[in-house]
Amino acid sequence: MNAEILSVGTELLLGQTINTDAAYIAQELSGIGINLLYTTVVGDNPARLRGALDAAFSRSDLVITTGGLGPTEDDLTKETIAAAAGKKLVVDETAREMIEEYFSTRPWAASENQKKQALLPEGCVPFENHHGTAPGCAFETDGGKIVIMLPGPPSELVPMLKESAIPYLLKLENAIIFSRNIHVFGRGEGAVAQMISDYVNLENPTVATYAKNGEMFIRVTAKAATKEEAEKLCAPVVREIEEIVGDVVYTDRLDSLEELAVSLLAERKMTLATAESCTGGLLAKRLTDIPGASEVFETGVVSYANKTKEKLLGVRSITLERFGAVSSETAREMAEGVRKLAGSDLGIGITGIAGPGGGSPEKPVGLVYIALSDGSNIFVHRMTGGGRRAERTMIRTRAASQALDLVRRYLTGILNEPDDSEAKTGVFPVSEL
Ligand code: ATP
Ligand code: MG
Repeated sequence: MNAEILSVGTELLLGQTINTDAAYIAQELSGIGINLLYTTVVGDNPARLRGALDAAFSRSDLVITTGGLGPTEDDLTKETIAAAAGKKLVVDETAREMIEEYFSTRPWAASENQKKQALLPEGCVPFENHHGTAPGCAFETDGGKIVIMLPGPPSELVPMLKESAIPYLLKLENAIIFSRNIHVFGRGEGAVAQMISDYVNLENPTVATYAKNGEMFIRVTAKAATKEEAEKLCAPVVREIEEIVGDVVYTDRLDSLEELAVSLLAERKMTLATAESCTGGLLAKRLTDIPGASEVFETGVVSYANKTKEKLLGVRSITLERFGAVSSETAREMAEGVRKLAGSDLGIGITGIAGPGGGSPEKPVGLVYIALSDGSNIFVHRMTGGGRRAERTMIRTRAASQALDLVRRYLTGILNEPDDSEAKTGVFPVSEL
């Protein structure tokens, strides 16, 4: 099925709104193996919209429109689409009930314009809008083309696409989709994409890479008549990709590094405490975001000031003086200090320079030491850089992720940090503290 997105809105042409709806729809369509051939943007102008629709119907089987469904428009967009598709607008009872139901939980009543949103092309399948009032819909034109109309605001479009439009398309094709996300931490999207370049042209399953918060994942999606069949199509590809990408793959079952860290700790009945400087509690926050974290997470100290590092964690003043707060030595003492303070199995210490100020040639912005102590040994990882573009939020996020990855590597026995005496990374016995 060849598809076209028709984004309606003058604000898009003026550059005031970025067409994120089209990008999102494009990704989702590729995920279910529908070819997107065109994306057209047209202003809120009935004549030009009509022209764009006629062109779309002449070359595509599926036309997805975005925007212009809300109460702010005087139904021109909807009318134009209906007219181009040869449909009348009629009050859709299901849509009317949806709108009434939406307003039954609001302290104000629906306006006349809002009621008019129940006008939809005759014979369509209405899509409920859980995050706004304008329903979307799907229908088939007399010429056999499929039209899907979606609201403009991403907060309404994203859930409607997922909950209604994609299932509608899959039902049309008599298929279901199943996907597996292979999460990767510790290698850039470009490098990984290159490693798996042979796979991105597969058609079923499809393989696509996505970057998110300094991490990335590879989504393998198969389309088949049943979930079992789709899973079967995915399995060998997931296995091969994991083999190629190696141990930077951290999971293909869970959603995040924190979820994995909590579940690995719980499996091993181990507890963790954290001492954070530059991440300001971000690691503790991410761990406690996960339900069940109380089983494994004991204490989180935000030891921003040197005084606190000394008082609460027992970091020695001579260590701070000689090596500085941002050093392998301080990170080690923080990790073991917080482990002792909490009486936990593991302790993490994070100290670094998140910027934008505070960097020096020896200790540039982005330098972070992360230490993990198990009471016998302390494992130190050194994170650098991001270069000139390194940004405070990103550095902090990456540092917290790196700490979670260190926990994962420790617990799964793949802690093969090369010893680097110059960078002061590697394994240090606690007895040497
Ligand atoms: P509403 O009920 O809010 O009027 P609508 O379906 O009529 O929704 P529009 O009026 O066209 O949609 O757009 C509403 C807002 O949604 C725009 O101001 C813009 O912020 C956002 N929006 C519209 N189209 C897009 C798009 N293609 N990508 C991202 N955001 C969009
Ligand atoms: Mg509108």
